[in-house]
Amino acid sequence: MIATPKLPGYNAAVETFRDGEYPMLRDAVYLDHAGTTPYSKSLMDRFATDMTSNLFGNPHSASASSQLSTSRIEDVRLRVLQFCNADPHEFDVVFVANATAGIKLVAEAMRSRPGGFDYVYHQSSHTSLVGVREEARRSACLDDRGVEGWIGGTSLFNGVAGREDDDGAVLFAYPAQSNMDGQRLPLSWAGQARGPSSAGRRIYTLLDAAAFASTSLLDLGCAETAPDFTVLSFYKIFGFPDLGALIVRREAEDAFVSRRYFGGGTVDMVVCVKEQWHAPKSQALHERLEDGTLPIHSIIALDAALDIHKRLFGSMADVAAHTSFLSKRLYNGLSSLRHGNGDAVCTLYSPAPAAGSGPAVAFNLRSSQGGWVSLAEVEKLAMLKQFHIRTGGVCNPGGIASALGLEPWEMKRNFSSGFRCGSENDIMGGKPTGVIRASLGAMSTVSDVDSFVGFIREFYLDESVPASPPQATMRRRDTSRLHVHSIHVYPIKSCGGFQVPAGVDWEVRPEGLAWDREWCLVHQGSGQVLSQKRYPRMSLVRPHLDFEHGELRVTYTGPVPPDTPRQICVPLSQNPTVFRPTTPSPSRSSRVCGEEITPQTYASPSINAFFSSVLGVPCVLARFPAGGQGKSMRHAKAHLQNHQKRPAPVTKMPGAFPAPPSPPDSDTESTPRRILLANESPILAISLASVDALNGEIRRNGGKGVLPAVFRANMVIASEEEARPYVEDTWTRLRIGAVEFEMLGACRRCHMVCIDQETAERSEEPFVTLSKTRRFEGKVFFGTHMGWRPGEAGGPVPSVRVGEGVVAEW
Ligand SMILES: *Cc1c(COP(=O)(O)O)cnc(C)c1O
Repeated sequence: MIATPKLPGYNAAVETFRDGEYPMLRDAVYLDHAGTTPYSKSLMDRFATDMTSNLFGNPHSASASSQLSTSRIEDVRLRVLQFCNADPHEFDVVFVANATAGIKLVAEAMRSRPGGFDYVYHQSSHTSLVGVREEARRSACLDDRGVEGWIGGTSLFNGVAGREDDDGAVLFAYPAQSNMDGQRLPLSWAGQARGPSSAGRRIYTLLDAAAFASTSLLDLGCAETAPDFTVLSFYKIFGFPDLGALIVRREAEDAFVSRRYFGGGTVDMVVCVKEQWHAPKSQALHERLEDGTLPIHSIIALDAALDIHKRLFGSMADVAAHTSFLSKRLYNGLSSLRHGNGDAVCTLYSPAPAAGSGPAVAFNLRSSQGGWVSLAEVEKLAMLKQFHIRTGGVCNPGGIASALGLEPWEMKRNFSSGFRCGSENDIMGGKPTGVIRASLGAMSTVSDVDSFVGFIREFYLDESVPASPPQATMRRRDTSRLHVHSIHVYPIKSCGGFQVPAGVDWEVRPEGLAWDREWCLVHQGSGQVLSQKRYPRMSLVRPHLDFEHGELRVTYTGPVPPDTPRQICVPLSQNPTVFRPTTPSPSRSSRVCGEEITPQTYASPSINAFFSSVLGVPCVLARFPAGGQGKSMRHAKAHLQNHQKRPAPVTKMPGAFPAPPSPPDSDTESTPRRILLANESPILAISLASVDALNGEIRRNGGKGVLPAVFRANMVIASEEEARPYVEDTWTRLRIGAVEFEMLGACRRCHMVCIDQETAERSEEPFVTLSKTRRFEGKVFFGTHMGWRPGEAGGPVPSVRVGEGVVAEW
């Protein structure tokens, strides 16, 4: 039986807050975002006291305030060495912005050497180490065996006659701990690889300790075996300050002699009028490398961080023992999860904890049918449940490629089919494109780990024992007397809806319902089209289409800031004088769902000031009318999902689980449909029966039901009789009055459905329950996309009306 470890050095106060006050796993940054943990509060208090009781001036002058800064900085420099058990006679500390800046300093110095340098790096390197290769003349990326072989004498950069054809320097770099999966690499390599190679070349070693040092003692006690250069990031250890260090073995200082650039503070004299000459500072190395003013206050904050961290968490050896206990628990917890059919839920990439890896577990999830679960989907749910995990490529290209078995051609294929770091479509060609990484730190607790494992169990473990596949069904017509319950358009993308009044015939166009998503708000700086996901208050911006006065009246229903009207009017007509002249410069294009578009932006300062003020974000109103060309035109992306293809799935509530995996998404539609600013398709419909079923499920679990409005549908379909929920998944066509529609596939959902459209408040539901009951192949669906099917040309203008009968075919 394993209990919470009682480690020496943890005082009673720490022990109490370890027990459950932190229901989170933190990814790498160990500060609570609200800054209210005992640790961050003590740290901030200490720093604030230091700041308010002392005056710190810019170093390098004689004033008392300047002298105070200088002496404090020198004290902290020494403390950093002590923290790493390093002898100040053997090592120097260069303060840098982050680990990457330290790596760049080394790369820049190596590049400036007369013969340049060759670069050898381990495949588990962070992107920031990989990038050094672009400065090198030649480079090699090696796995463990490759490194061992090279240290043992295998030559890498052969010229004629199998001999290394060069006598320039070599830089060898590797991470002490992989930031991808926590794997630790031998620290002994740093000493073994150094020195003259068999071919007589000078080899320098660079250890990236950014991930390692956050939960382990970085011990530079033996200068003979220590790396020449070690980089780390203090924010990864202490959460604050944002500062890094490059620790240089004094014996390797000569690596910097050829560095060319010099900045303020690094030189004793500079001549530039008539003659070009300068004398670099000659005493300590850090004086020559720290360009410009040091981050004085960050360095002083590091003093406080070293103290408070030690007081609350004990030594780094204590932290290491604590986190390694927790990571074993996490690893074992995740690897023991099994579906009802016996298959593992998690595919783990991290080495087993016995191998002494760091406290991070990298994994992916599989459904009971064997399909991979989308990383983006896991991240959305984790966010709602307040777990701070990281998903994707995690800045470790070599580690990811080898863990996932991704070949260069696959990565390039994924790239050319639109995959980018952070894409939603993260399962490509039947393989995940990244990993889920949960890391633990000094503040993590047993209950953090247990609740995270419980979270994976609750949402991703399928207890059901496989049943025989459902029978194929015949094409039929619905008999449950469906009708249009309500019709909504969203004139401004992501803002409130406009409900079409009863008795009004509303025009249907190929690109959607008239006036739907024709406007949007564009961030003035980034050009990004604003979304409610980021700015929930957009739901309180309510547009009203007033055809009598020919205007779009926009009201803000939340508290209005001073000097801001509650309402403004925008003309419906497309009078060109209200728009800014469109200069076809690339800087003026915007992005919606990652797609580049060119909307017409409004020139009116009062209109733009209204939106900027009520939303608290600098933005402009823009219009994207139908009939545009080029980047003023968009196409639908919706398509039938596999779970909708026949045989029709038996939709059981709860627990409809993923359909069998099938080939990658294929778009069967031949001519693409045009859309305006809707995310995926012309029209989105939901059924009240499904909303009711979902709400029933939410209530059964003690939650509060949601209004249909959270799904932001254009049409809400209801039935006069008891209707089966989720039949809309199986519809292929719909006739509303005389107008025919074609179903274009189920609508994939994100946590935007959790925003209450009346109050703009966020909660967990309905996404959490949807994730349990409406997940297919790792993605969550609710509602259905559809589009008008034009009949014979020359007919009346197609329209729909509230109350009209609906006939579904499937
Ligand atoms: C975080 C990290 C880096 C980059 O550190 P920065 O402080 O962001 O520059 C490099 N290597 C590893 C292993 C890391 O974990």
